[in-house]
Amino acid sequence: MGGKVREKARVYYHVFGDTTETLIAGIVDARAQGFTAVGHLTPFLDEDRDVPYFKTHANKIGDAIETVRKYREAVGTDVDLCIEIHRRLTPAEAVQLGLGIEEFHPYFYEDPVTPDNFDEMAYVASKINIPIATGERFTSIWEFEQLLSRNAVQYIRPDVCLVGGITGAKKIAALAEARHVGVVPHNPLSPVSTMACLQIAAGAPNFALQEYPIGEDVSPKVDMVDGAAEHDGEGFLMIPTRPGIGINLKPGAKENVPMVPREVITRLHKDGSVIDQ
Ligand SMILES: [Mg+2]
Repeated sequence: MGGKVREKARVYYHVFGDTTETLIAGIVDARAQGFTAVGHLTPFLDEDRDVPYFKTHANKIGDAIETVRKYREAVGTDVDLCIEIHRRLTPAEAVQLGLGIEEFHPYFYEDPVTPDNFDEMAYVASKINIPIATGERFTSIWEFEQLLSRNAVQYIRPDVCLVGGITGAKKIAALAEARHVGVVPHNPLSPVSTMACLQIAAGAPNFALQEYPIGEDVSPKVDMVDGAAEHDGEGFLMIPTRPGIGINLKPGAKENVPMVPREVITRLHKDGSVIDQ
């Protein structure tokens, strides 16, 4: 693996909510638990996907800027804000919003536009003054190289479950290291994924922050594995010292915690077209 370069990994805690008040309460709660960064943090609200979306452009951008202002006001500078856009803006909108929230110093601006066109991501990056994070849908070193070679990203987001495991993610981290780009491993899938991600944190000098989902310590996830990442109470997960990735699947995990297929629910615009919330 190349040797351990740190003892613990800074994490960002997930915050969800369909009202600004819920989201702010989540950020305040994260701080109370000792976390120093929150993510999955939308400026648009995590609204019901069954409800069609509509706002004027002025309200869409203006309300989002005001929401980020409230986030910053709620916690001062004690907590870093990782602003998640979920690919829902055009490049022009992304530039407007990126410039509008610059004064609140977000840690990063995640997936402002769909990741498919590397030149468009590079265009947005060239026009704003906050770091872009992207890469959670990519599967290969070649896609990450396309991003990096265009200076389109400041924090890459490889998912160990998509990019060829720890080995694949290490290669991608090394590409980014050569360009002083940070690594923020994408991690929504399971406690096993979290432990695999900690191996990237352990060995990649340019590791920056680890996504840490809510609910890893409750059933059914704790029924799968015989341990969990240890939070130090100050916003870091300890790098495990046990063999392998530091946990084992419990006997019968496959049978006791069967796969639950998840329906894909896509939010629609008021006009009937698809938006990617
Ligand atoms: Mg994301």
